[in-house]
Amino acid sequence: MEEIYQKLKKEAEKLAKIPGNSRGEILKTHFNYIKIKKGEEGVRQVGGMMERLGCPIKLKEINSLNWYPEYLSVLVILVAKELFKWSDSDIYNWGYETPKFSFIVRLMMKHFLSLKITYQKAPVYWQGHYDFGELEVPDFSEKEKYFIIRVKDYKFHPITCEFHKGYYVKIAEFGTRNKKFFIEETKCMFKGDPYHEFKTTWQEI
Ligand SMILES: [Zn+2]
Repeated sequence: MEEIYQKLKKEAEKLAKIPGNSRGEILKTHFNYIKIKKGEEGVRQVGGMMERLGCPIKLKEINSLNWYPEYLSVLVILVAKELFKWSDSDIYNWGYETPKFSFIVRLMMKHFLSLKITYQKAPVYWQGHYDFGELEVPDFSEKEKYFIIRVKDYKFHPITCEFHKGYYVKIAEFGTRNKKFFIEETKCMFKGDPYHEFKTTWQEI
């Protein structure tokens, strides 16, 4: 446990220096996911570690629409990953399952009519969640069955790339029927690229 704490402490110190805020909804959704996967005990463990790391957060006190430092959300993912020994693909699945727990997403999805419209709205959706960075959809081809997502000025920890991959696939599925999606990260700020770029392709099923 001490080893995990020391490792997380280093991460927390690095992350805390990175500016940028996100809506409490993200943090809240993270804890709700932990609750579903690991129960109240899991929430208590993650909360306890966050407190030890100098970032006390109480699920009941998080306001969905308030702004919180984004690094807290990233740290919650890292803490859960360490405590529960989750793999990268577990984190992908976390991202994948997250949109259905978010009331903001459910609200927005009511109005989404097609995959194309979903992705045209994605940049606005980003701005609703973050007060920094940018999401663009520079290329969308219905004919060739793919689209590109670019995320700029968002660099906390590589684990968020796995999380976001799962997330984007789920959002794409919301906007469509009878399609199976595949996603790969083709550019990454952690590999020296100027932004993260994700290519999503699909097959009709
Ligand atoms: Zn990346």
